[in-house]
Amino acid sequence: MNEEKYLFVVSGPSGTGKDTVVHTLLEQHPELHKTISATTRARRGEEQDGREYHFLTVPQFEECIAQDGLVEHANYCGNYYGTLKSEVEPFMQSGTPVIMVIEVQGAGNIKRIYPGATTVFILPPNMEELERRLRSRGTDTEEAIQNRLRRAETEIALSADYDECVINDSVERCADAIYAIIEEKLKQQ
Ligand code: 5GP
Repeated sequence: MNEEKYLFVVSGPSGTGKDTVVHTLLEQHPELHKTISATTRARRGEEQDGREYHFLTVPQFEECIAQDGLVEHANYCGNYYGTLKSEVEPFMQSGTPVIMVIEVQGAGNIKRIYPGATTVFILPPNMEELERRLRSRGTDTEEAIQNRLRRAETEIALSADYDECVINDSVERCADAIYAIIEEKLKQQ
């Protein structure tokens, strides 16, 4: 069995709405498994440990790296983010489609480790809309917003390396487009 075909990586700039899109996708298709990443960044708003992320200290995260417990990890805006092997390998092996929502560096690493994985980039309708969405969250400082906007431009430039690009002009349409990509891939031998 080609296990790698069950692996789907979704990226998109911060504020592009990818978490909402993936949430809708999972509501409509509960058979999909979304990985819960480990991170050293501070919790935002209502986030809970073990639900949005496994929130770790820097020494805990570095211990995970030392123990070879991560499939990939990256530094994003000064914090560690990484995907635990236990969130990926058992699901791929049992033929459960796995969705990883990770940034571009991690996506590139996954594609190198698992060339059969499918990478999908979610684009905002335009940069003005991206900035509006980032500001409307009301959870980040001005410095963090500017940092994420600069990072977004770099990330969008890398979207050409992805297998598929979808525009988030409507959450439902975008979730449907991603599911169509998954269905198509799962049909392959
Ligand atoms: P946020 O702080 O907004 O939750 O996430 C910042 C960025 O880190 C997002 O682009 C998110 O997709 C990415 N990210 C989340 N988990 C992981 C992970 O396990 N690995 C990598 N490489 N990036 C991740």
